Amino acid sequence: MKYRRRPTHDVIIGNVPMGSNFPIRVQSMANKRTSDIKESVAQCIRILQSGADYVRFTVPSMSDVEAFATIKKEVLQQGYQTPIIADVHFNPEIAVSVAQFADKVRINPGNFGDPLHIIKLINICRERGVAIRIGVNHGSLSAKIMEKFGDTPAGMAESAMEYLRICREHQFDQVVVSMKASNVRVMIYATRMLVKMMEAEGMKFPLHLGVTEAGEGEDGRVKSAVGIGTLLADGIGDTIRVSLTEEPEAELPVAVKLLDYVQRLSAALPLPVDETGNRLLFDLFNFSRRKTRITGNLGGNFPPVVFGFDQLDEHIQFSHASFDEINDSLIHELSVQKMKILVYTPKYANVQAELRWLNLQLLHQECDAPVMIKLNLNEPDIEDFMIRAAADLGGSFIDGFGDGLWLTNSYPMPLEKIHSVALGILQACRARMSKTEYISCPSCGRTHFNLMDTLARIKAATSHLKGLKIGVMGCIVNGPGEMADADYGYVGAGKGKITLYKAKDVVKRGIPEEQALAELIALIKENGDWKEEVESPSP
Ligand code: SF4
Repeated sequence: MKYRRRPTHDVIIGNVPMGSNFPIRVQSMANKRTSDIKESVAQCIRILQSGADYVRFTVPSMSDVEAFATIKKEVLQQGYQTPIIADVHFNPEIAVSVAQFADKVRINPGNFGDPLHIIKLINICRERGVAIRIGVNHGSLSAKIMEKFGDTPAGMAESAMEYLRICREHQFDQVVVSMKASNVRVMIYATRMLVKMMEAEGMKFPLHLGVTEAGEGEDGRVKSAVGIGTLLADGIGDTIRVSLTEEPEAELPVAVKLLDYVQRLSAALPLPVDETGNRLLFDLFNFSRRKTRITGNLGGNFPPVVFGFDQLDEHIQFSHASFDEINDSLIHELSVQKMKILVYTPKYANVQAELRWLNLQLLHQECDAPVMIKLNLNEPDIEDFMIRAAADLGGSFIDGFGDGLWLTNSYPMPLEKIHSVALGILQACRARMSKTEYISCPSCGRTHFNLMDTLARIKAATSHLKGLKIGVMGCIVNGPGEMADADYGYVGAGKGKITLYKAKDVVKRGIPEEQALAELIALIKENGDWKEEVESPSP
């Protein structure tokens, strides 16, 4: 088993080509109003100086096309030749118009109308040497797709395939494709399905990866690292965007750390084989948790535990092992001694591949002992620690492997921080919901309020509502769709006004911003989802 990139053809984006023949590219998106040229140029340069290979701007109206062209010209005049990308929703005419100036145009099949509109865009892009991104979002699938597939990973993949087939029919291969969702599981499953469908039809379009509305701080980093890191470890992904509700410049160091992570995955691992030497194959499309026996308060349908945070049944016996100690006799012992669990410490840098190897060995020998994964890191910096842990372990919990998580760091780090990262990884994988989940967009030229401050205020008031999902979105145009599976939504609806949602339904419109948090709390209370904050005893 050796790490290798999924082969793609090249896509030329300005002077920075993309695909498996090139390094994985990093990018970010400006969040100033595109019409505010001075602010947009200044922010674009800050993003470029932070290491972006591409910068994207929203182009919400025809009048922004001209602003986009001016921004691109001014950035170039200041000595930056970095490709600039236009992001277009709802209006194919804007896409065609901005393709006169952009290096790449992103469209969303969910709101592009008739897929055949893309032919006009293909023609202008071919003429000018401009690339296209078919950017599917979980929260904004077309009515046609929703009717046939619902908002499922299969629907997302099919939504992209419909456009890719048209591009291929018209011999246009300068296309990048993405499957984004705020639900990390959905994002990973949809991307895997798309890769499989493309392979079946002989397509090699490069992939753009990102978790939308990931939020900020630790949660945003952990969610992004789980989603992007899991796919990168399988060699999938040619450009990444870490999408945080923070200044766009803050996204780049996280993205660069994820790329550093991929650099470490090159060492080959032994192939998982059965006793006759036949290769054991991992099913990427199983999507269910490994069946384990209940052992004390671990395994079975118990959510995965966090060592040191959860109180464990005193009768559980730990059998510690790493790669070299896994053999038939240990697996037999784990199978027959019903209070034993395996505490497994990965040996290789490619933790995801190694844990799949272990999963296959246990499945093959029908061993149902629960497994606690123990990861010992050596990271002086907390951001490095959370990104490494999430990228290494997310894939396993996403694939349903792991009944417990034991994180350690050789550098001093507060235990609460380590436990919070462990719980964040499990939450990002939807393996265990132990925190309030915030689905917040990074804001863009469509946002009329300070999203970062608002999110901080909402978090301060609601972070004790464990398991509740609250969407905090900058605009009414894309926000409601993109917060997809939120229980409650706080969405900007023009200058100083907020609309509140209960799941997908509007419950109150046009609330003055200063009253909106109190109204949100009242709404949560009315629906019986509010709990008073209580001081919890230390575990
Ligand atoms: S939800 Fe609206 S404001 Fe937020 S990033 Fe998307 S388009 Fe921009």
